[in-house]
Amino acid sequence: MPNLSAMIKNGVKAELRSTFPYTSRTSWISMLTGTNPGKHGIPHHIVGGKQEVPSIWKILSDHNVKSIVVNDIVTYPPLQINGIMISGGFSTPPHSKDFVRPISLFEEINSLVNGYIPSLDSTIMEKLQNGMFEDAFFQLQEYGSKIVKTSLYLANKFNWEIISIVLENTDYLYHFFWDKPEFLKRFYKWLDEVLDNFHNLSLSHDTNFLIVSDHGFGHIEKHFLINSWLRDFRSR
Ligand SMILES: [Zn+2]
Repeated sequence: MPNLSAMIKNGVKAELRSTFPYTSRTSWISMLTGTNPGKHGIPHHIVGGKQEVPSIWKILSDHNVKSIVVNDIVTYPPLQINGIMISGGFSTPPHSKDFVRPISLFEEINSLVNGYIPSLDSTIMEKLQNGMFEDAFFQLQEYGSKIVKTSLYLANKFNWEIISIVLENTDYLYHFFWDKPEFLKRFYKWLDEVLDNFHNLSLSHDTNFLIVSDHGFGHIEKHFLINSWLRDFRSR
């Protein structure tokens, strides 16, 4: 990834320290609120509940800072902020139409990319289960490419002080393609180009440029379900 390497060389990098537990929803909310899971109220990806502290988008909006937020994967429906907010990813229902605020932008975005994809539907799982890896990979890239195109379009058309883009397909990639290096290689080639686009955008707007992640990937050695353990312990 030559572009990413150059950015690291000319910038700074640090090892990621995720939240505990390091599941997507929990970690992203920590990143966007600056609080730990005990404070923001979402202790796990699959646990329901209400976020108890405001995200940075609300705080910035309250201070009249203009933001463009594309594919916020933990906020749905989108907030009415000073700027533009597009919800997406696992918290946004596939094929929904109310993922953008202001709502008036929906048609514009949708026709720009010939059908915006707010989140992936079950067809990707069907492809993977049927061994159609090439098709599934295409779907992942298409999902990300539409986010990229939309973000660059909005960034060039509207005023902003901060813009945030989340690419969720990097996560899917490691769930489904971790053992297929040929796909990983192709994906990272694409991603390196994408990062270069956003880096250039930041240079032309004279802003800081941050690349962050919610967690890494690895195999699971042990899974401890504390709720089950407590239930069984009580009934002993
Ligand atoms: Zn994640």
